[in-house]
Amino acid sequence: MLNKIEHLGIAVKDLATSEKIFTDLLGVQPYKREEVESEHVITSFFQCGESKIELLQATSPDSAIAKFLDKNREGIHHIAFDVSDIFAEIDRLKSLGYEMIHEKPKDGADNKLIAFLHPKTTNSVLVELCQEKSK
Ligand code: ZN
Repeated sequence: MLNKIEHLGIAVKDLATSEKIFTDLLGVQPYKREEVESEHVITSFFQCGESKIELLQATSPDSAIAKFLDKNREGIHHIAFDVSDIFAEIDRLKSLGYEMIHEKPKDGADNKLIAFLHPKTTNSVLVELCQEKSK
């Protein structure tokens, strides 16, 4: 079961420019910046009620965010759903015929285990599952 929208991921060219915009919009500062070396991105997170906004800036041309921005304008890149058992959700969605980019969860930003579904089976919407790692 998908519990709630955990965050929206937004691809940006320049983190500082977009941090200013979302600080103005939401009335709060980002609560963390975190580099995810395996994904070649720097992320910046804002809390908005129960959900979050994740800004993503590429640190290398190999980054999925750099490739996204080669083809698209800056904007919404993915939608992330909070799940209680990411392993069970991956199995459930695969059994329904959805293709995973990550068959096994991996470490993501903000203390999460994450796995992405392939957008070709989700009508071009990039979907992320994420589960809070126990502390
Ligand atoms: Zn995300």
